[in-house]
Amino acid sequence: MQTLKVRLGIEQQNAVPNRHYDVLVGSGLLEQGGSILARYGWVKTKAVIITDSNVKPLYSSVLQQSLWSSGYEVAILDFPAGEAAKSLESAARLYTELTDIKAERNTVILALGGGVVGDLAGFVAATYLRGVPLVQIPTTILAQCDSSIGGKVAVNHGQLKNKIGTFYQPRLTISDINTLATLSAREISDGLAEVIKYGIILDSDFFDYLEKYTGKIRALDADIVETMVAKSVELKTTIVEQDVFDVGTRNILNYGHTIGHAVESASEMTVWHGEAVAMGMIAEARLANKLGMLSKTEVGRITSLISAAGLPTEINIKISDMFYDLIQRDKKVNQGKIKFALPQGIGKVTMVNDVQIEQIKQVLADKR
Ligand code: NAD
Repeated sequence: MQTLKVRLGIEQQNAVPNRHYDVLVGSGLLEQGGSILARYGWVKTKAVIITDSNVKPLYSSVLQQSLWSSGYEVAILDFPAGEAAKSLESAARLYTELTDIKAERNTVILALGGGVVGDLAGFVAATYLRGVPLVQIPTTILAQCDSSIGGKVAVNHGQLKNKIGTFYQPRLTISDINTLATLSAREISDGLAEVIKYGIILDSDFFDYLEKYTGKIRALDADIVETMVAKSVELKTTIVEQDVFDVGTRNILNYGHTIGHAVESASEMTVWHGEAVAMGMIAEARLANKLGMLSKTEVGRITSLISAAGLPTEINIKISDMFYDLIQRDKKVNQGKIKFALPQGIGKVTMVNDVQIEQIKQVLADKR
C-alpha cells in the first residue's frame, strides 16, 4: 500500500492553514475499512456509506462488515447509477434519508463509487449540517486518478454540468485497486485518458512508464496499476496544492478538454468523457505541432499510446458549425481568442491564449 499526502492551503489565502489528508492506494483496502478509519481517529461513531445501484451489490457489504467489526454503526444509502442522478433532487433525497437515520455532525460519510458518487456524496457531505466528515472511496480509474483528488464536489442543474457545487476536501481517500476488476474493458480505457494526460503534460518518465506497461495496465496487473494510481494522485496533487480554488494553475489540466468537451456535447454523450478527451488530446497535440511546440514524432507517440490504451484516435462524429460554436462557447474563450493548455514536448505544458478558430479548423481538416 502507498500513502500519499495532499497538503492544502500552504500558498493560498482563505484556505485552512496546514490542513492535509492522506490518500491510501493499495489492494484489499475495503476489507480493512473499519480498522483504517479507527487508525485515523474515528472511533465507534456512525458511518454512512453513500453509493450507487451498480456499486452497492458489488462492494458495500464487504465495507459494511469491516466497519461493523470495528464497532461502527453503519447505514447504506444508494441512488440509481448514472450521471442523471447527480442532481439537487438526489441531494435532497439523501438529506432526508440522513435526517431519518439521525446522522449527526460527527457522522462520517463514505462516498463509495465512481466520480458521480464522489461528486454527489461529496456535495451532500459539504452541505448537510454545514459539513460532515467525508471519506472518498473511489472505485473507477477516473475517480481514483482524478475526480477524488482536488475537492471539487457538485451536482448538475438542468443542462448545466457541475454548476452547483463547492470545494470540500475529504478527510481521507481510500483507493482499493481491487475494485477496478469489475469495470468493463471500455470503462478501463475511458479512465486511462486522464492518466495519459498527466504523462503528456507533467511527467515524461510517467509517459514512458505508461507506454511500457499499457498491456499490463489494461489487464489490471496489481503492482503496475497501484504504481499508476499512486503516481496519478501525486501528479494531480502537485497541481491542486498550487491552486486549491481553481483560479489559475489548474487550467493546465484542461489539455484535451477544449476540443474534447465539444466532441462530448456534439455526440450527445454517446462518446464518453475519456474517449472525447483522447480525441481532444490528439487534435490539440496536432495544434501544438502546428504552433511549433511539439514534434511530429511526439504527436505520433501520443497517438500510439492513446490507441494502445484502447481509446479512439480520430474524431468520429460529424464536425459541423455547431461543433465550432461549442468550442467558442467554452469558458476558455476570451474576445474570440481561445485559450488552450498545450504540450511543449512530452512532460511539459504551456498555456496559449490566442488560438484562432481558423487554426483549429485547419488542424481538424488536415486529418480528414
Ligand atoms: P460513474 O461514477 O458514473 O461510473 C461509471 C459507471 O461505472 C457507473 O455505472 C458506475 O455505477 C459504475 N461503477 C463504478 N465503480 C464500479 C466498479 N468498481 N465496478 C463496476 N462498475 C462500477 O463515472 P466516472 O467515470 O467514475 O465519473 C464521472 C463523473 O466524475 C462525472 O460526473 C464527472 O463530472 C465527474 N468528475 C468530477 C471531477 C472532480 O474533480 N470532482 C473530475 C472529473 C470528473
